[in-house]
Amino acid sequence: MASQMNARAPKGTADMLPPTARAWEHLTRTAQELFARYGYEPVYTPLFENTEVFTRGIGEATDIVSKEMYTFLDKGNPPRSLTLRPEGTASVVRAALEHNLIPSGGPVVKLYYAGPMFRYERPQKGRMRQFWQIGAEMLGAAEPSADAELITLLWRFYEAVGIPASSMRLLINSMGDETCRPAYRDKIAAYIRDHADGMCEECNRRVETNPLRAFDCKNPACKEIMSGAPLLRDELCDECAEHYSAVKGHLDSLGIPYVEDPSLVRGLDYYTRTVFEVQVDAGLGSQNAIGGGGRYDRLMQEYDGPPTPGLGFALGFERTLLAMEALGGGAEGIAKTEVYVARVDGSVSGAVFSLVSALRDSGVAAETDHQGRSLKSQFKQADRLGARVVAVLGPDEVAAGQVKLRDMTSKEETTVSMSEAASAISALLGRQRD
Ligand code: AMP
Repeated sequence: MASQMNARAPKGTADMLPPTARAWEHLTRTAQELFARYGYEPVYTPLFENTEVFTRGIGEATDIVSKEMYTFLDKGNPPRSLTLRPEGTASVVRAALEHNLIPSGGPVVKLYYAGPMFRYERPQKGRMRQFWQIGAEMLGAAEPSADAELITLLWRFYEAVGIPASSMRLLINSMGDETCRPAYRDKIAAYIRDHADGMCEECNRRVETNPLRAFDCKNPACKEIMSGAPLLRDELCDECAEHYSAVKGHLDSLGIPYVEDPSLVRGLDYYTRTVFEVQVDAGLGSQNAIGGGGRYDRLMQEYDGPPTPGLGFALGFERTLLAMEALGGGAEGIAKTEVYVARVDGSVSGAVFSLVSALRDSGVAAETDHQGRSLKSQFKQADRLGARVVAVLGPDEVAAGQVKLRDMTSKEETTVSMSEAASAISALLGRQRD
């Protein structure tokens, strides 16, 4: 006998059922409208890429590449190594290079995406193996005003979905560039080696490959030691310091509140100069970063493309939703059923079907019964769906070319002719029609 089917979604994934899917659509719609005002256009890249896109771009020593990627061989001959995308930036930059979206001297390119990402992480609240991100990337812009614009966009997005500024914390930092970071990296590596005994195995192991990650270590002893580490802020080269200070100046002038966090390093190798993260405590445990990003001026070159400055952010849907719910907001619903067309018996199903279709064609959210329910049960269903008007059709009404309308709020009933049904319903719904 066949073993019983395991009907559960894989660990770390979740089905997006209507309330959540509606929230996702609300967030993506809000992003579409808001991002368009900032000049962003949509982009869709494949859900998987040649593995190298991520190993080169994100960096071999990062957690994502070293532990979290879903990598597999396809059935080609020879087989190719492919990876489900763990984030969006690498793919967008790869696509921009492939299609030469930023010819030398061309204007800035602004792109946004929305979709699932995949990381083999230990699942917990706000941390999934398949999770959903909305991200924006700006390519070709080196000036600090671009950083401030991008951060502002992220901030405004959260405000637009109902997360008040007072509940958010915007952390910013500068990671320096190829002029000042290598020396700083060596300095941190030396510092960790000096404190090797007090620090965890992982920080010790990463000292050669990615010492800056020690700033992110959750181990209390490592935290304590790293709180005394030299800060890159104090070691930035003049150009980076100037850039950072100009970004802050722009944010100040817009009144976007930020907190400088000199230990914010973020887990991807490609960042240079500005990095930022938005955190919310409400509704979230330790996974309190709802979005973040930064500048990646060397990523295009990492792909053997022309030097092209770039910057972007990604925001996590699941955590944003948890925060919204905890803060009393929620996703705006899609159009709820406004009118329920009920039938007295099956003999009038043709007239019912015509009326419900005509209502939908005229822009009204209308629903009817397809299960042969009793009239009483149809009224219950109308109530459950939140319909504000129920139109009732029976053999008598159809014979007289009429329809009975019941206002579900006032409970008043009127009878109107079929030809006036649409306008009478609109009037009941409080709409003005041409
Ligand atoms: P990152 O690409 O790591 O900078 O992540 C950007 C945002 O995506 C984070 O701030 C989170 O909101 C979200 N995110 C990252 N990883 C996960 C995950 N495993 N599960 C859920 N959300 C995530």
